[in-house]
Amino acid sequence: MIAWKEDVPTERRLKTVPLVTVGEKPEVTVISPVHNEESGLPELYRRVSAVMDGLGVSWEMILVDDGSRDQSANVIASLHAHDERVRGVRLSRNFGFQVAVTAGLDAARGTAVILMDADLQDPPEVIPQMLEQWRNGYDVVYGVRTARDGETWFKRVSASAFYKLIRRITSIDIPLNTGDFRLMDRRVVDSLRQMPERHRFLRGMVSWVGFRQAGVPYHRQARFAGATSFTLGKMLRFALDAITSFSYAPLQLATWLGFAMAGLSVLSIAGVVLLRLFGTDAPLSGQATTLIAVLFLGSIQLICLGIIGEYLGRMVDEVKSRPLYLVQETWGVPNAHPGKQSSASIGDSIS
Ligand code: UDP
Ligand code: MG
Repeated sequence: MIAWKEDVPTERRLKTVPLVTVGEKPEVTVISPVHNEESGLPELYRRVSAVMDGLGVSWEMILVDDGSRDQSANVIASLHAHDERVRGVRLSRNFGFQVAVTAGLDAARGTAVILMDADLQDPPEVIPQMLEQWRNGYDVVYGVRTARDGETWFKRVSASAFYKLIRRITSIDIPLNTGDFRLMDRRVVDSLRQMPERHRFLRGMVSWVGFRQAGVPYHRQARFAGATSFTLGKMLRFALDAITSFSYAPLQLATWLGFAMAGLSVLSIAGVVLLRLFGTDAPLSGQATTLIAVLFLGSIQLICLGIIGEYLGRMVDEVKSRPLYLVQETWGVPNAHPGKQSSASIGDSIS
């Protein structure tokens, strides 16, 4: 952490950041969350600007530096100096992908907003097709992955199992093989900004919002540079956030297990009585039977308590209602502050 703090030029460490005057609202905003992507950012800018300039629409690009420990913030600053349409928000630390994207949504001014990873796994060349569908009247146009390069066998299998599970246990309909690469209309963005939940699962939230949604197929590329920030632990937490935000099925599991165990007990009681009357109860005697029953029930109870704990912990986080993120500095973004929640106080203290 100290490493990148020292890299920051003195003028950007000052509290009053000179703000660039904000011009007309652009038609399209491209948001990319950035976490240690220094080597890929210039190429990202080159490809996005080539595509957008080719389309002849007014656009802006928002790069959200999510507590990178490399030179990403400096690269964003120099991209902004080179082209004012590149704007940047630097969060005060690493808040995670979902929150970084949310910060981008808060700063975006476009009528259509596109979310795109900064590692060029989502090719900017798909944007024209997305814009075409948007012009056809769709409010959400998501990328559907037809192929995935550069991802491990384990990641593909676990991702596919995760989405099947989510579809089964939640009422929202998340399309298969989609990521966060998507275009959203302004009204979808505004709806999302009214959802202040802490443990965010954006794909689910976008499905929950509704409106007219369409998919555009694309080939998911390998990373342009750098390495993935998603470890197994982070993916598991992400999966838990997704499930707990959209389903109570795990909570109901305790009820079903309770009924199942009660049914089993009634059957066993009848069995024991019959054995006692007509046969021998030798197999049921001894400590082992009792121990197994106690341990079995004990573990089921602990698992159920753990599930309740998962929900309870998230409730505590919601009740605390801390700001979703804090901004360290911005480039060309005058009013970077979290959306609906406590926006006044935070916005005031930052801008
Ligand atoms: N990212 C981020 N904060 C994080 C982790 C990742 O902003 O804590 C960004 C990262 O820079 C990239 C995008 O989110 O632009 C996707 O991350 P990554 O490529 O590591 O994930 P994967 O594509 O392997 O799922
Ligand atoms: Mg990636």
